[in-house]
Amino acid sequence: MNPRFLLPLLPLVSTSFAADPAVKVTVGHSTEANVFKPGEVAPPAMNDAGAKAFFKIVSGKADENCGVLPVLQDGKAAGNDDDPEHNFFFGIGEKGGRISADLKGPIDLKEVATYSWHSGERAPQIYKLYGSDGSAPGFNAEPAAGVDPASVGWKLIANVDTHEKGAGQHGVSITGENGASLGTFNRLLFDIQANDDPNGWGNTFLSEIDIVDAKGPALQRYERKIETLTSKDGKFKYILDSSESPDLADWAKINLMPVMEEWYPKIIAMLPVEGYTPPDTIYFTMKQATTLPGYAQGVPAYASGNNVTLNANFMRDQQGGEAVGCAIHEIVHVVQFGSPGGSTRGERPPTWVTEGVADYIRWFLYEPQAKGAEITKRNFGSANYDSSYRVTANFYDFVIKNHEKDLMRKLNLATHNGYSADLWKEWTGKTADELNEAWKAGNKTRLGIE
Ligand SMILES: [Zn+2]
Repeated sequence: MNPRFLLPLLPLVSTSFAADPAVKVTVGHSTEANVFKPGEVAPPAMNDAGAKAFFKIVSGKADENCGVLPVLQDGKAAGNDDDPEHNFFFGIGEKGGRISADLKGPIDLKEVATYSWHSGERAPQIYKLYGSDGSAPGFNAEPAAGVDPASVGWKLIANVDTHEKGAGQHGVSITGENGASLGTFNRLLFDIQANDDPNGWGNTFLSEIDIVDAKGPALQRYERKIETLTSKDGKFKYILDSSESPDLADWAKINLMPVMEEWYPKIIAMLPVEGYTPPDTIYFTMKQATTLPGYAQGVPAYASGNNVTLNANFMRDQQGGEAVGCAIHEIVHVVQFGSPGGSTRGERPPTWVTEGVADYIRWFLYEPQAKGAEITKRNFGSANYDSSYRVTANFYDFVIKNHEKDLMRKLNLATHNGYSADLWKEWTGKTADELNEAWKAGNKTRLGIE
């Protein structure tokens, strides 16, 4: 037997008064090719305390081809057995390294689970797990390589080595015997060793680290959850991916998708362009804010081609509020730009033009009762025809009521065939500035502004 294989630490000596529980290390392994299912260890959780922890490299250098540290927190394993972007690993020639997890406060630690997947030497996990509450005298939160963490205020929790299992998927679960707590900690330290590889390519492809708070919510495990809805006439397909937010799957099926099915063909009919066909399939993906790219974490939704990404955190908060309307806005973009042939054949309009169309259809046609695009005493002063989104939508409503009923179709045509500011005069007999003045004067009177 390989002496390095699995050495759960039994507490022989303890400096604290309470008896430490025995620690149990369970190793799961499989050579599944498609789905991540590491044997007897449950797949990664999405809402564990690790998802909110702050991970930091304390020693060693990350490989330049690996994902950023948050891939260890996104609740997902890698997509296949050689998927560097969805793993974190130390660089070629590094003999492992150390990663700390700041738990932002003490937690009653129930379990730590670590996951890796690789077709070769980078699959096995060899590490020591330490925990600390930061209270020991001389505590060092970031012990450099060569410094024994146990000598600077860290307690060794477990010693893991899955080397004997070879290539494939590895899952490690560290718990107390019989469900006992592992202790109260506010920091963890993973002291990771590289596997033997003559070329120095032995650093583990770590896919996920789960840290489970005994007092935390029930764990949600990542599972691919995709449903396809085909329109009654068979023309359109709406594909809903709720893998990252299974709690929203039923809400989306009942409250969101039927509205998309009703409105997508309507919007297509409103915005016809000769020689251009909007996509017949839309993908809706509900993503956790933490797995969105940084620039998108604060936005409710966005569309790219025929992919609509919905921020699950926003959807969850706004189920009875803005969620569905915000998806209507995005499918207007799918009609505008969703097919490759949708690229403009002339001057592309400024974004306020197209954002205004998306918000006009949302606020004035889909949910006029919400009165979400009103000009009020508060926003009157800064409202201009090109303020974009809701304000521009309100301006369009004024133009449609007073000058040009067919404005949506014409603006969309201009989006495809070429836009110019002169079009306003051509359509209404007035320039955009003249229309702006008339719209503002009407609002001023209506609001009783002196
Ligand atoms: Zn938009």
